[in-house]
Amino acid sequence: MRENWPPAKIALNPEKRVLFLTKDLELIKQQLYDGLNLKMEDLTVDDLLDDINTDVMTPAWVCFDHDPAEIAKNAYAGLMHNGLRVFNENALKNGNFEVIVSGQRKGTGSSRETAPQCERWAGINIVIAASFAPIHAQNNINLGQIMGDHSMLERLQKGENIALEEFTSRYDKVTQIILEKGGLFAFAKLLKNGEIKLPPLDTPPRPMTMAEKIIARNLVGQVEGQCVKPNDPVIAQVQGGYSHEFTTAQVHTFLQNEYGEDYTLPNPSKFAVFEDHLLYAHHNPKFVPHMDKIQTLRDLQVEFQKHTSVRDYSAKDGVSPGICHQVAREEFIEVGDFIQATDSHTCMGGASNALTWGVGATEYANLISAGFTSIKVPESIRFELVGTLVPGCTAKDVILYILADHAREELTLNRSMEFGGEGLASLSIDERATLCNMATECSGRTGICEADDLLFEWMLKSQPHLDLETQKSRAVHSDEGAQYHGGVHTINMSEIQPMVAHPGNPDEGIPSDPTNGANITDIGDVSIDIAYGGSCTAGKADDVAYYAQVCQAAENAGLVVKEGVDFYIQYGSGLVKDLAVNEGWHDLFGRVGVKLIDPGCGACIGAGPGVSITPEQVTVSAINRNFQGRSGPGKLYLASPLTVAASAFMGIITSWHEELFN
Ligand code: SF4
Repeated sequence: MRENWPPAKIALNPEKRVLFLTKDLELIKQQLYDGLNLKMEDLTVDDLLDDINTDVMTPAWVCFDHDPAEIAKNAYAGLMHNGLRVFNENALKNGNFEVIVSGQRKGTGSSRETAPQCERWAGINIVIAASFAPIHAQNNINLGQIMGDHSMLERLQKGENIALEEFTSRYDKVTQIILEKGGLFAFAKLLKNGEIKLPPLDTPPRPMTMAEKIIARNLVGQVEGQCVKPNDPVIAQVQGGYSHEFTTAQVHTFLQNEYGEDYTLPNPSKFAVFEDHLLYAHHNPKFVPHMDKIQTLRDLQVEFQKHTSVRDYSAKDGVSPGICHQVAREEFIEVGDFIQATDSHTCMGGASNALTWGVGATEYANLISAGFTSIKVPESIRFELVGTLVPGCTAKDVILYILADHAREELTLNRSMEFGGEGLASLSIDERATLCNMATECSGRTGICEADDLLFEWMLKSQPHLDLETQKSRAVHSDEGAQYHGGVHTINMSEIQPMVAHPGNPDEGIPSDPTNGANITDIGDVSIDIAYGGSCTAGKADDVAYYAQVCQAAENAGLVVKEGVDFYIQYGSGLVKDLAVNEGWHDLFGRVGVKLIDPGCGACIGAGPGVSITPEQVTVSAINRNFQGRSGPGKLYLASPLTVAASAFMGIITSWHEELFN
């Protein structure tokens, strides 16, 4: 914790400096290395870098360090000029800066908390930008970073003292208190000790969405039956959560720093650790130099698990029990739960009619030690699914369609994406998980599906210890008249054709993005080098059944995987693999030339077999993100499990139909 931060009046420290992240990268270098000091009054907002993404601030390799002080040494390591780093090691820290200034939309991209950490632990206390990406702003708030705009900076540089309140007044009451107390940890401690009283909610009884209902019944410090509305700042209990080896070490370190080496957790059995993300990291030559740090992350996760006794999903003999989101829904997420975990695809749990979303390490460390979390009730958008899927289509095509047509700031941004309607009832629970999983690609806060008998049946089959009546009583349905700020959108599934999200065209400034939807019939003949079926989105039982359906048809037609194509299938969990073995699919895959990989994450984050090696290679993949470079340097098309498997045998991107191989 920083001593005496923040003060009641914010002023610039005369011994410290202000760093302007200018579009002219030479100017940044002069500030870093030649002592140049700039003033806001001499610049315009247009002179400053826009859309600084979190990957620029802390590229993936920087995140192999768990100690924020180490992360800060490589702050902005991803900002390159003529192939070289603009920020050399320790450049931000050694520059003696306390303010950092940029243009529009600071902190876009992934939700990684290491991005604001790299600034804070390099000495930055005040972050100035015209606007901030929502999750990045939340991470700043949790770390106690003060955010302001350019006119405030101009006043500060003229020697003015600005009341802290002026920086915090744009936020809700709870966020104001978090910032005034210096961040989430300090706030939570005071709340736990009864030194802070939360303002009572005055939201009157009202019809609520599914997300609102789950939050309302978990409210802390409010009267029984209190309703919530969007943007209400509340403290809510969580029923469980999990972290993985990329994030656990930080959680452990933060808890040790805040509560001492002998800290304890009140409810360890409700939380878990997973070893799933970096099991195959040694396959990526770029990660090989960092294997010692990766081993440290693994060791610290083991230490955390032993110290706290949370549920243990470590790899055994080098094999992971599975991807955290898949195993969590198979083994411990229950209907109606409120779950938070340190990964953006936590939203996949919404298929179980639970409210689930990803949080940063600070928020997670806080909530597992306190048992509650501070949130703002999200707005909602509803998708009313009607009709049934046409042959060759899966839920993946539905969400690619929604990504292409609805993933816009005014519709999905930061909202709970609610899926319901008679069309949903025709989708299996695994297919519903695909919809919820990719809510985060829509920039939604989460996805949540209506509960029905199919769900209860699936829950009891997956977790036989559960009681049917209890699960039914925990289910939430949205109320008649509930408010959807993103609107209610009817999606006729029978009108959706097999789709891809294409890799864009960098020459025309179109980035590779999951929102680049196109019907397969419109993309012409696209030859492929790699077909990849796996990940949390597409390594579930029903996905593997789709791969098996196509592979069986191929075998019946005397086909094997097309020469020159590598077709990988990676199971989402040990249970999914067991199913594949028992059904004979595992052997079938082997007979037709599929390369099989044990459960876990892998190529999806560029850390496992199935990544591209050259920029020319083309991949069709059932994963959820096609951001440039995430799964190797090649071009990556997102598609359904059926399309991936069909394409592997045809050698070009092809949608599946029963007669394809005849
Ligand atoms: S499979 Fe990919 S998207 Fe899913 S949790 Fe692992 S790395 Fe993340």
